[in-house]
Amino acid sequence: MNPFYNPVFLGKILKRYLIDIDRLDRISEESLRRYQDRQLRRLVRFADTVPLYHEKFKSAGIHPTDITGIADLEKLPYVTKDDIKRHYPDGIVSSRIKKDSLIEVSTSGTSGKILSLYVDMLDIVMGLFAYMRTLHEYELSVWKNKISIIGDFATHTAESGYVTRGLQPRFHLPYLSKNIQWLNTNDDPKNVASALNDFQPDFIGGYVGMIGHLALLKETGLGNDISPQYIATTGTVIDPFLKAFIEKKFHAKVFEVYGATESGLIAFQCNQGSYHLMSDLVYAEFFRNGQPVTSGDAGEMIITKLYGNGTPFIRYNAINDIVAPFEKTCSCGKAGALIKKIYGRNDLALYLPDGNVMLPSSFSEISSKILYELKTNKVKNTKIIQHDLKTLEIQVVIDETLRTIGPSVEKIFQFIQRGFEEKVGPAVHVTVKEVDSVDTSQGPRIISMVDKSKYTISRYL
Ligand SMILES: [Zn+2]
Repeated sequence: MNPFYNPVFLGKILKRYLIDIDRLDRISEESLRRYQDRQLRRLVRFADTVPLYHEKFKSAGIHPTDITGIADLEKLPYVTKDDIKRHYPDGIVSSRIKKDSLIEVSTSGTSGKILSLYVDMLDIVMGLFAYMRTLHEYELSVWKNKISIIGDFATHTAESGYVTRGLQPRFHLPYLSKNIQWLNTNDDPKNVASALNDFQPDFIGGYVGMIGHLALLKETGLGNDISPQYIATTGTVIDPFLKAFIEKKFHAKVFEVYGATESGLIAFQCNQGSYHLMSDLVYAEFFRNGQPVTSGDAGEMIITKLYGNGTPFIRYNAINDIVAPFEKTCSCGKAGALIKKIYGRNDLALYLPDGNVMLPSSFSEISSKILYELKTNKVKNTKIIQHDLKTLEIQVVIDETLRTIGPSVEKIFQFIQRGFEEKVGPAVHVTVKEVDSVDTSQGPRIISMVDKSKYTISRYL
């Protein structure tokens, strides 16, 4: 039976919705910790029915009853991307759950490495609730406001799994679907702009690149009627200049929502501007060179997802983001942990001769400046290749239909070159060259061939 027609299941979901959505606003730190402890105990017992975890626990000599709460988390082994891949498909789902009741989704593959995993309807509903929570923070609601979500609806992604294959076939909520517009970030930005213009949403959620394009299109007169109150960006870190440009073009406030396919939503920016972890849904640890980092210091994020009956993620070390935790409290009064800064993907880093590691947050502003300073989106694609410590090659694909419009290709190339030279310093030789296409299927758009095993990181930029 489809679980969504099961009244007990629906009741459970409804109850969860009412309890969960504003939990962080109401709960004390002590009750949150007790809740996390309870969720972790449930999670570990459940994971023990999943072959991958059963094996891991066994070889580490751990019995699920040894784990009484978050304080015991460090006893558990890490789980890697490779672990998940090796046990796919049957070894990453519980022997108690029918696999055909689950939905398979994959990571978007921006890093070139696609990972497949399973989610259940509870994951999907909780994922949407987490998103609704961010809307609630800004006094928006799917019941009274018009919401546009520009998702990655390529067939394999989490978004298409959640919405196209998960919710839409099971839910028939005409009122809700009237208020929510689903758009595809893989479509032509002009078509997206025109759909938004017709719908006139109060809120737009989308990837940084697409939102940046839309801001530029609006400047050229496309999408004059798009005037949301709020825009949430996701996918990559947004630099402050691009954020300001988008806010100005749309007369809207931009906030960030941060998540991953494996973990669901991880954090969001509250109306005071702080990054709050969704501490009732995920638990994060931060390490550098195997040691926990202190508040404000950048480290690799290890994530434990506290809910769901799909593929469990416990101490998963392959979100690959460098993030700085922040041991402070926010004036908004929400319970749970804070993040000081998200630096971006660890596997999309450039390694400089002086020991400084440049992460996406540090060079994303170069491409966003092309948008808001040169006012052009004719750079269709780029690939950054670091051949060695001192040689950086930037490959650029130009949109043929825009080649003769706006600033010249030469001017754009000089702009990119100068941008990188300022970032990497005089010791690194930067070349920019035009290519017909970049192959991202073989790997990420940022590749560093520097031997990381012989490299000592002094700090993250
Ligand atoms: Zn806050």
